Amino acid sequence: MSIEIREVTKHYGSFQALKDINLTIAKGELVALLGPSGSGKTTLLRMIAGLESIEEGSIAFDGKDLSTVHVNQRDVGFVFQHYALFKHMTVFDNVAFGLNVRKKSVRPSKKDIEQKVHELLELVKLSDFAQRYPSQLSGGQRQRVALARALAVEPKMLLLDEPFGALDAKVRKELRRWLRKLHNEMHITSVFVTHDQEEALDVADRIVIMNKGKIEQVGTPSEVYDKPVSPFVYDFLGNVNLFHGRLQQGKLNLGSAQLDAPDYIDQDGADAVGYVRPHHLKVERVRQSKDEIAAKITFMHSVGPTWYLEMRREDIDAYVEVELSKEEFIQLDLKIGEIVYVSPKEMKVFIPEDFII
Ligand code: ATP
Repeated sequence: MSIEIREVTKHYGSFQALKDINLTIAKGELVALLGPSGSGKTTLLRMIAGLESIEEGSIAFDGKDLSTVHVNQRDVGFVFQHYALFKHMTVFDNVAFGLNVRKKSVRPSKKDIEQKVHELLELVKLSDFAQRYPSQLSGGQRQRVALARALAVEPKMLLLDEPFGALDAKVRKELRRWLRKLHNEMHITSVFVTHDQEEALDVADRIVIMNKGKIEQVGTPSEVYDKPVSPFVYDFLGNVNLFHGRLQQGKLNLGSAQLDAPDYIDQDGADAVGYVRPHHLKVERVRQSKDEIAAKITFMHSVGPTWYLEMRREDIDAYVEVELSKEEFIQLDLKIGEIVYVSPKEMKVFIPEDFII
């Protein structure tokens, strides 16, 4: 089922929680709504679910306006952060619930329900737990039951609100890998809310980045990570170094160095900030050009194949973070206290008006 959201706005009293939201989600897509607390993710999800009224604009499923379809006929499955399983029911009965409560005329036979539940428990790898009660399961297992229960009624759309939020890091990772696998097998249009960048980048086909009730950017994980369109997205999606300077003839003048800023050839004199990811900085032990920034290594440590270096700039009171591969690090043979020369391999420059949303 495709979802078309047009010009959607939402107020809570005088507070505007959503502003002019436009978004199309294709059939079978797995989309993450990502943003800081209060950015409007849950409100948007609840509007898609039909749990919040639409104040202005429209939401349509497969081209059919949502306001004309009753909530019970929307074929939507939900999974929330707190797994809300029925405590007094076994895993089997929890998964069967949505089918058992159907009107007799549309309820599958007992045998068909049994078969369906067993298939789903197989899918979520819980076949051996069918007769257990929720209290006898781990958090990750309960959340898998909640997913199986949502899938039992064969929804055309799955909406998940921080589905793994209450679980520890390792279980979260396992479950999100598993959600992606499930999605690849079943191709149900799915929208999940998260505030965890890594989770969104790891699982989603596309990410919708929200800030203060607005969409900042929509794109594939690599699009939003490698080509952020605003300072907010840059900051939100990972570590970044900021180089403050002034634009002059297509260069960002830091005082000590001039960095290429070809997008701003006609903005002479404007203050601007260069955004550079730590792995986009090149390090040299011997100065190669006057436009490299001299910095003293103050700290370094490695995690797996990556070395993280903290350096203090020699020209101003500011730190720079650099990430190097193990090979680069070994080749450079760097020592703490040494002065090195850094320059961006890639940089995105923003001017003050880019900061206004
Ligand atoms: P979180 O990650 O913290 O859940 P979120 O991005 O999902 O945040 P929403 O829950 O959509 O954010 O809330 C968006 C804004 O709307 C917040 O400022 C919140 O306080 C406000 N809000 C949400 N629900 C209501 C409500 N029922 N009444 C008044 N204000 C609300």
